[in-house]
Amino acid sequence: MKTWICLICGWVYDEETGSPEDGIPAGTKWEDVPMNWTCPECGARKEDFEMMEI
Ligand SMILES: [Zn+2]
Repeated sequence: MKTWICLICGWVYDEETGSPEDGIPAGTKWEDVPMNWTCPECGARKEDFEMMEI
């Protein structure tokens, strides 16, 4: 499981917890998140996220 961070606002997507409020179930891998999904905080697109080492 990996963690991805929004480079614009710093919101973090954790594959382990997903983003259930946005319809992304827990355990959803980043590549399986829909291309049209956007950051719930700032509306940035997936390409504005970067993998983050914990
Ligand atoms: Zn953001």
